[in-house]
Amino acid sequence: MSPRIDHIGVAVRRIEDHLALYTDALGLGGAHVEEVPSEQARVGFVPIGESDIELLEPTSPDSVLTRFIDKRGEGVHHVAIEVDDCAAALARLKAQGLRTVDDAPRPGARGTKVAFIHPSATGGVLIELVEYGQARD
Ligand code: ZN
Repeated sequence: MSPRIDHIGVAVRRIEDHLALYTDALGLGGAHVEEVPSEQARVGFVPIGESDIELLEPTSPDSVLTRFIDKRGEGVHHVAIEVDDCAAALARLKAQGLRTVDDAPRPGARGTKVAFIHPSATGGVLIELVEYGQARD
């Protein structure tokens, strides 16, 4: 797989309040919604070409998403890049002295492994690394 934007994450209070914009108004097609317990979130993916818009809804008042929305309001939360090997990508970043949110990959939506690079290392953008591995098969 060549490098690509896997998805753009958008923090929202309620996925259903925003799905119609993407599926009906923009005509992007059906959404895949699932719960991601490790993120204390429900996520809704709307396909757009080779990428997706990921709507992120907090499922707990303690979720980092709840704090994000309380502080900044709904809006763009992160940009996700597909990588072949999430652990190797993390190790490379750390070797270069870049600050990461995660020390090791963790389970993400759609059976992926994910890890985040801290916004302080990226000019203010939270970047998610996504590895599909067996999840694509
Ligand atoms: Zn994401």
